Amino acid sequence: MFHPDEPSRYAIGPEAGALRDADIEQAANAAEGRARDAHYDAGFCTHGSAVAYRPDPHHPAQHGLQPGQVRCTAGCNTVFESDDAWTQACTDPYSDPIRRH
Ligand SMILES: [Zn+2]
Repeated sequence: MFHPDEPSRYAIGPEAGALRDADIEQAANAAEGRARDAHYDAGFCTHGSAVAYRPDPHHPAQHGLQPGQVRCTAGCNTVFESDDAWTQACTDPYSDPIRRH
C-alpha cells in the first residue's frame, strides 16, 4: 500500500528501475543543458549550428570554405577542417573553448 501522496515512480515493481534510469538520464541531460548555458553565458560558443562547403555557396558563411571544411554559424565563425572536427567541438565545447564574436 502506498501513501496517497507518494508518486507512483517510487513504487517497487519491474518498471521502477526503468523509471529511475529515465530520471537519472533526464537529470544528466538537464545538467548538461545548464553547463552549456553557463558556457554560452560566459561568452563561449557551443557550436550549435554550422554550414559546410558547397561549390555553389548559398549561405554567406559558405564563401571561402574549401572542400570538407565546416564553418560555425552559432557565434564564433570558426572554420573546422572536417565535419568530424565540428561534431567533436559540438560534443565537447569545453576542452578547447572558443569565444563568441
Ligand atoms: Zn562556434
